[in-house]
Order: sequence, then C-alpha cells, then structure tokens
Amino acid sequence: MKILVINCGSSSLKYQLIDSETEQWVAKGLCERIGIDGSQLVYQLAGGEKEITVSPMANHTDAIRLVLAALTNDKTGAIKSLSEIDAVGHRVVHGGEKFTTSAVINDDVIEAIRECNDLAPLHNPANLIGIDACRELMPGVPMVAVFDTAFHQTMPQEAYMYGIPYSYYENYKIRRYGFHGTSHSFVSKKVAEDLGKKPEDLKVIVCHLGNGASVSAVKYGKCVDTSMGLTPLEGLIMGTRSGDLDPAIIEFIAQKENKNVSEVLNILNKKSGVYGLSGNMSSDFRDIENAYFAGDEMAIMTMKTFAYRVAKYVGAYTAAMNGVDAIAFTAGVGENGPLVRSLVCSYLGYLGIELDDEQNNKRGDDTVISTPDSKVTVMFVPTNEELAIARETLALI
Ligand code: AMP
Repeated sequence: MKILVINCGSSSLKYQLIDSETEQWVAKGLCERIGIDGSQLVYQLAGGEKEITVSPMANHTDAIRLVLAALTNDKTGAIKSLSEIDAVGHRVVHGGEKFTTSAVINDDVIEAIRECNDLAPLHNPANLIGIDACRELMPGVPMVAVFDTAFHQTMPQEAYMYGIPYSYYENYKIRRYGFHGTSHSFVSKKVAEDLGKKPEDLKVIVCHLGNGASVSAVKYGKCVDTSMGLTPLEGLIMGTRSGDLDPAIIEFIAQKENKNVSEVLNILNKKSGVYGLSGNMSSDFRDIENAYFAGDEMAIMTMKTFAYRVAKYVGAYTAAMNGVDAIAFTAGVGENGPLVRSLVCSYLGYLGIELDDEQNNKRGDDTVISTPDSKVTVMFVPTNEELAIARETLALI
C-alpha cells in the first residue's frame, strides 16, 4: 500500500509517500512560503535529485494540488494516478484530552480537533486546513489523524497537573500534555526491539533533541512523564525556546523592556534557547558546537547549560520510574551530536553509565554508545516520525 503522510505548518507543508510493504519513502518534499510571495515546491523521487519548482500557492489547497501533480507527473512522478494512494496520514499537533490514540478522520473527529484549537492556536488550524484540502482533492480516500500529544495521555495525574488553582484545569483544561509523542513512541519501541526485549519489560528515557527538544519517561511501554507542557515552551532549553523558567520573569521583562505578555512570550519562543543564551550566535547546534571547539566561552557556557538541563530531566525521570534500563538520544542533535551526548552522560556516572567514546563518535543507524559494563544502556536511535505516522495510518484503515 502507498500512504501519503502530510505535516502542515502555518506556511509550510511537508509530505512523504511511503510504501507500507518496504517501509521506505518513494517520494518526499515540502512546500514553503504558502500564501507568501516566492512559494516553492521541493520534490524528490527516491534515488533521484531534489527538484525545486517556484510556483504561486495562495493556500494549502494549492500546495496539496501541486504535491499531487508532482507525485503523478508523467516523467518524474512516483505513481501513475491518485488512485494508487491508499490512505493519508495527517500529523496533528494537539489532541487535548480527547485523543489518546490516532483516529480515522470523519466530521466528528474534525470537530473534536477544532475544539483543541485553543490549545495550539498556531498549529491545529494549519493541520485542519491540510485535512480539508486533502478531503477536497482526494474524496473517498481514508485519512487518519496522528496526534503529537496522544502518546503522553498515559501520564498519571501527578505528572500532568500544574500547581495552580484546580478550576483552571476544570474550566480551561490547563495541564501538561507533552509533544513529539510520535517520536517518543517510535524510539522507545525501537530501543526495545534493538535490545531484544518487549517494551513492557523496560524503563526507557528518550531524549528528543532537535530544534524543538523534549525528554520522556517510558515505563513498560507507556509514557509516565514528559518535559513539554501545555505548550512546547516548557522543559529543555531548545533552539530558540527558553524551556523552564520562573514565571515571574515574564512580568519582570515586560516591565523592564516595556513589552506586553505576547511580546515577551514571543521572545521566550523565538529569541531564547541556545540562540539567545549564546548571545544570538545561532540556533543551529552545529554552529554552537564549532564555536565550542574553537574555545568560545559563550558557546561553552551554552552547551553546558543545555546539557545540564537534559541531565536534570534524566535524573528526575529515573526517580519517576524508580530506575532506568536504557537512555536513547534522537532527533537532529541527539542523533548527530556526540558532544551533547557526552556532556549529558558526564553527569550520569551515579547511574553506573560508562560511555564508549569510539561508539559515541559513530553516525548512522541505531547504535549502542555505552560500554558493555555500563549499568544502563545508552544509544542513539534515528527517529522517523513519518514512518510512525504511516504505520499508525495503516493500522487504523
Ligand atoms: P531537528 O529539529 O530534529 O531537525 O534538528 C535540528 C537541529 O539538529 C539543528 O539545531 C541542527 O543544528 C542539529 N544538527 C543537525 N546535524 C547536526 C550535527 N551533525 N551535529 C550537531 N547538531 C546537528
């Protein structure tokens, strides 16, 4: 079967066509600057070069129309006709408390996603536009919504409640939800597979360290805690997000800089994290890493602060699960950054963790980077959210 995976952002759209038998992508790409001047489509056929087509896209329906035209193009298309697309899997950011698993899309599901718009005002409306556009252009093709929050819905109440008046939870559903669930689920299962164990027999900590970053505690196959909260701003220091801070800082900055709450939140989301902490050096960890090795003091401080926060979460989640069998690093930095991994593990000697430097410097597929004597297995495991969405979609149709 061929499954089209769609990930809609406010002005972008990523897509992959995946063959469910081989679990490989047959074509993939993205649309950028949707609704803005200079929109372009990037398309790549497996084994082929990337093709870039500049073409106006007034909205997401235009973008999906262009994607479908590229997929069925006479010369470079991956399929002959749209009838070869058996199902569409949509990434949806927020499922609130309504969605504890993925869901086959129908009118009721769309309405329930719309009711979660309040919780993710930048993301859910864009996801819904993508769903509507696909339903219009591919009527009758089954579609599935896969939620970033669903995997974390198994968190116990003590992990998801904030210490604020209970009425805010009752009235507005203010609680911790967590994100990157598809990745945390995929990687924790992969760890079990790699170690020849069942997920039900393992306590795993997944460190998803990309531009957005979060840690999760997965006990016996179920998420029991994760570092992002009501929004993706909580938790780790990220590319441009601050992560955890004293909430009183918001009023303090607002007064000092004569800004309103939205402006301060914009700074915490877009101008903070590794970018802000390094004195606006870069939000790209490769740049910070290079400067670290060149002896730049700001870069050294930034990397240490980033890694220290990750290590604190690992400690907290070891306590939450009363132990840990395996720690997995994933996403851009987690998969490709030996420096970050070794800095994090330098705090974890008390867990009996010993890193194998040679293994840690490797790249590629799932790799154990701890020594055989290490009391906890440490690995890097490339995440594959698109494949995870395709698997979920296939399972539900
Ligand atoms: P993601 O959000 O998962 O795509 O990850 C993006 C982040 O991964 C960016 O900050 C990149 O700098 C970082 N990254 C990608 N490749 C490397 C690398 N080789 N070493 C360190 N960081 C990397």
